[in-house]
Amino acid sequence: MKAAIFEYARADSIAQACSLLAEHGADAKLLAGGQSLVPMMAMRLARPAWLINVNEIAELKSSRRDGAAWVTGAGLRQVDVERDGELARAVPLIRQGLYWVGHVQTKNRGTVGGSLVHADPSAELPLVAQALGASFVLRRNGGERTVAAADFFQAPMMTATEPDECLAEVRWPVWQGERVGSAFDELSIRHGDYAIVAACAQVEVDSAGRCVRAVLGIGGAASVPVSAEAIARSLHGTQLDDTTVEAAVESIGQYLEPGSDVHATAEYRVHLARVLAARVLRQARDHAAGKARGTRA
Ligand SMILES: Cc1cc2nc3c(=O)[nH]c(=O)nc-3n(C[C@H](O)[C@H](O)[C@H](O)COP(=O)(O)OP(=O)(O)OC[C@H]3O[C@@H](n4cnc5c(N)ncnc54)[C@H](O)[C@@H]3O)c2cc1C
Repeated sequence: MKAAIFEYARADSIAQACSLLAEHGADAKLLAGGQSLVPMMAMRLARPAWLINVNEIAELKSSRRDGAAWVTGAGLRQVDVERDGELARAVPLIRQGLYWVGHVQTKNRGTVGGSLVHADPSAELPLVAQALGASFVLRRNGGERTVAAADFFQAPMMTATEPDECLAEVRWPVWQGERVGSAFDELSIRHGDYAIVAACAQVEVDSAGRCVRAVLGIGGAASVPVSAEAIARSLHGTQLDDTTVEAAVESIGQYLEPGSDVHATAEYRVHLARVLAARVLRQARDHAAGKARGTRA
């Protein structure tokens, strides 16, 4: 099928994109990499009357450290973010998550902001944002607001972004400790497919190997990516040994509302979440311990 007829405009600044959104209201959609929007238009699942191309907006492409956060412009291509070594050192989970996203061809076009606003519950970047507690800077004509990840993801493919708002940038917390480790893992039918279930974790340990900070995220097993905060907190002060980690993730099902489909039953998704959660926590621990020993984990 082909897309329904639409009008097209190119914005050269965030302000211009916001003005066009204000003018055309809910009938307009921003076009970033087009890797989700264009297929949805071709299937007539989306029928915007106006497409506003934001690909030429330089302001959407900045990538910089700002205090305790790394700030990525919404329009950065996924491939450029994945290859940015400085960013990978500051927020390693972004590169670890992007490894699993689509294919090099989709990452060449797909943007950070497009993935986050598209908000597929199985998508990797929304999961990393939720787990780390990233925040989202949304601009509209004459205003700006910042929304925490916990409030940004509202339902499958629905975020706090209003029809007249443009996601300008995302602030990713940088953990500054010396012994920080992270890991991302998922199960999908083929590499590059959306995950059946995905998990990510980041931990910080002290010089004695005790956990002082942890986050744990699960994707694909609820309507939005989930941050299992109580489980992560229960690990504080422990050595993150295998027995402790496996006991901690035993209750993970209570955070999830998985559905059943042709790929997996709800029960299997919970099982996968438990296995993957334990795995990423162990890997994050080993990664942190490897740094403490001055070796690569
Ligand atoms: C074959 C294939 C495999 C894929 N596999 C995966 C996968 O495994 N994991 C995964 O996460 N993704 C996957 N994707 C999706 C891919 O990551 C997309 O790039 C991403 O979902 C959307 O990014 P985009 O820049 O292409 O956005 P677009 O498709 O252009 O836009 C998506 C939505 O975001 C809105 N939007 C875009 N930018 C902004 C902004 N700055 N402010 C407000 N709204 C905005 C658009 O209006 C639209 O509603 C796959 C895609 C394909 C084609």
